[in-house]
Amino acid sequence: MTFANFIRGQWSASRSGATFGDENPAIRGSSLAEFQSSTVDDVRDAVDAAAQAFPSWRRTPVTERKHHVQTFLTLLRDSREELSRIVTLENGKTIRESRAEVDSALVEGTHHVNQIEAFYEGSGPGAFSSKTWMQYEPVGVAGIISPWNFPMNVMCRKTLPALLTGNTVVFKPATFTPWSGVFMATLLEKAGLPPGVFNCVTGAGSTIGHALVTDPRVRAISFTGSTAVGKQIQQQAAENLTRTQLELGGKNALIVMEDADLAQAVDAAITAGFSNAGQWCTSTSRVLLHRPIARPFLERLVARCEKMTVGDGLSEATDMGPVAGPAQYRDVRAAIRQAEAAGARMVAGDPEPRAASPEPSGYFIRPTVFADVTPDMAIFREEIFGPVLAICEFDSIDEAIALGNRSMYGLSSAIFTTSHETARTYIDGIEAGLAHVNVHTGYKEPAMPFGGVKQSGAGLPENSETGLEFFVDRKAVYVR
Ligand code: NAD
Repeated sequence: MTFANFIRGQWSASRSGATFGDENPAIRGSSLAEFQSSTVDDVRDAVDAAAQAFPSWRRTPVTERKHHVQTFLTLLRDSREELSRIVTLENGKTIRESRAEVDSALVEGTHHVNQIEAFYEGSGPGAFSSKTWMQYEPVGVAGIISPWNFPMNVMCRKTLPALLTGNTVVFKPATFTPWSGVFMATLLEKAGLPPGVFNCVTGAGSTIGHALVTDPRVRAISFTGSTAVGKQIQQQAAENLTRTQLELGGKNALIVMEDADLAQAVDAAITAGFSNAGQWCTSTSRVLLHRPIARPFLERLVARCEKMTVGDGLSEATDMGPVAGPAQYRDVRAAIRQAEAAGARMVAGDPEPRAASPEPSGYFIRPTVFADVTPDMAIFREEIFGPVLAICEFDSIDEAIALGNRSMYGLSSAIFTTSHETARTYIDGIEAGLAHVNVHTGYKEPAMPFGGVKQSGAGLPENSETGLEFFVDRKAVYVR
């Protein structure tokens, strides 16, 4: 089966004539379908279509735009099972995690739909004179670039606010997960969007992502992905002063104090450490333990890891699926080898598979925990993006916060404690966009801003009202 690009309301092949395959990471060497290897010219066509559709879409009443998005959300709800299966097949995450991803997109999309009219109430007659007001204007064509780890939810979190506020969209799904992206295009087509309002082009980020970012008609880029690519995009976008919303990497710390409920804290480490095989920007990757409870915590954590079933995500019995593909498998295994060489102690996980052992059928890595990690080790500093936890110990809350902040990233964080004072000290001291108390690092709600500080993000956060604000300009109007 070969899927096409979606441009100007039509399904069309790339001008390159070339396609690329989509592997199921639970079955090495498999091919689920073929997708267009798009070129710079295909991106230009898509931006042409979006630019031509913009003048009419921006004048479409907000109630009508809202109606299209509501129809899309109904179609998304009806496709929950079919789409979850696609996400699991191409990403590897368990079917329960894929359903949770669809549900999260539905909750967030409904939130944006519900707040759109209240958002425009902020745009109207000024406070001092009825002859002045501020009005929101859509920015124009928005480029949306998404990662493979939440292939449909991240796309919705960006695309729906862009459409609701009157922008037209060119969307580039991640190369590992094009199917979920194209499926979203089919739903938006069925939702009756006028041709050109939403366009989807598949292919390599380095060529078509770059073409999208540098096209002067694209006035906003909302990107989620690695910090390295985010920095390149920021630089390229500066050429045309294109605004950016960058949601990037993390190295999120979970702090466990001696007064914490240990069962809950272990649960948080398992949930946020190993859901989506640890390929989660807000996953827990460092666990900082108050020395008096370090040993009992580790014993419980290791016992839970050993019980986890790792396998094909389509089985309802699977606790953790494979990592998303060969590159992720290679990188995570290299990080594990490096941690061992640096002197960290593996207390859960697979030692390096021996050459003589049979090749696993898919890209499976067991939940892995390293104790005796020190802040100078790469495993403490670098985002691994796999099911690997690094454990450090500390003696005071101030030391824990300092360790937590010893990172170039600042996305999410959590503390488990029963002390209000300790929680307060942590909330004020931690350098992160998300601070959780007795809640795991991956938790979020649509009414709250979602974004990181330091090298975890730049620009307005997604969700909350800022998710809409990113896609509008403010015009100050004076009338005599
Ligand atoms: P990535 O940076 O490799 O790719 C992200 C997207 O950018 C893909 O669609 C890719 O094709 C495209 N791309 C690649 N090179 C490009 C270029 N030069 N110009 C334009 N686009 C380009 O990231 P990934 O491996 O897909 O995703 C994993 C990363 O995403 C992790 O670092 C993770 O922490 C981060 N992430 C962050 C959040 C968040 O909200 N902060 C959420 C999910 C994932």
